[in-house]
Amino acid sequence: PYEVLIVGGGPAGAAAAIYAARKGIRTALVAERFGGQVMDTMGIENFISVNYTEGPKLVASLEEHVKEYDVDVFTEQQAVSLTEGDYVKIGLENGATLSGRSVILATGARWREMNVPGEQQYRGKGVAYCPHCDGPLFKGKRVAVIGGGNSGIEAAIDLAGIVEHVTVLEFADTLRADEVLQRKARSMPNIDIIKSAQTTEVRGDGNKVIGLTYTDRETQESKQVDVAGIFVQIGLIPNTDWLKGGPLKLSKHGEIEIDSRGTTSIPNVFAAGDVTNVPFKQIIIAMGAGSTAALGAFDHLIRTPAP
Ligand code: FAD
Repeated sequence: PYEVLIVGGGPAGAAAAIYAARKGIRTALVAERFGGQVMDTMGIENFISVNYTEGPKLVASLEEHVKEYDVDVFTEQQAVSLTEGDYVKIGLENGATLSGRSVILATGARWREMNVPGEQQYRGKGVAYCPHCDGPLFKGKRVAVIGGGNSGIEAAIDLAGIVEHVTVLEFADTLRADEVLQRKARSMPNIDIIKSAQTTEVRGDGNKVIGLTYTDRETQESKQVDVAGIFVQIGLIPNTDWLKGGPLKLSKHGEIEIDSRGTTSIPNVFAAGDVTNVPFKQIIIAMGAGSTAALGAFDHLIRTPAP
């Protein structure tokens, strides 16, 4: 068994592995794919102290940094179960079991997609999911935000300060965002909100997005909006399906609830990054959280007699 067993190999898991291994304790990391969401990212401009990098490049240096240390890394392995105990057991899809005196869960999250024609083709070429990451790329241009929940309206307010104009499209006939956000959005002259709008297609010129098509659900009319960017804000789904029905406490959104040391509802299980209820989901935040969870786990281990 390991002293620290990390599930997930994105920025949170990699940071946890380095921090744990530097304490000289037996550490392993198991992941489906090393790098996580960063592997799917084109330009990264907000990884502080690095002006510009690209996802695969950052992942390569993350991997190199982890390999500097004595960490057992298992990739292409999917965790399917967690059993609590003095040694927490993580069951893998291939039938094997790994166990750790402490476990750090860092299985990340994924953006909910619209599933309309053009979305995949123009992903990273106008179709975006993260306003903090990609907003500045659309400076002075017209963009759309899909989704009128809190994240959609927050994105619209954020983008309105950078881009020329924002059109928000909401499927329902009312917005779900908090009233204070709606009021703020309505007060901004360059935000338009269209309700009862079902986005049906991302339109492009072969290289980049030029607009979108939606159906007005009241009149069934098909309409077009010309935009250079489309921010899809219809939900971020934590990768916790495999934990549902198990002993670990999840929030109503399926996120793992943690305290300021990364501790979950189980004292020797810690969590970090996009899979948790941390309010902001970013690479640098996930790395900080992974480091916190590793220090939290180490602190727990030195205070708990070995079973
Ligand atoms: P993830 O990166 O999601 O990693 C999760 C890890 O867990 C992966 O290794 C995965 O394979 C593994 N895993 C999942 N389930 C299991 C399982 N059951 N068993 C085993 N392993 C499992 N952030 C920025 O700061 N700047 C940007 O410019 C930026 N651009 C982005 C662009 C895109 C297209 C996307 C999708 C995200 C972007 N982000 C950006 C957000 C950033 O990538 C995430 O906040 C960050 O990767 C979260 O790190 P994480 O380690 O918590 O999770």
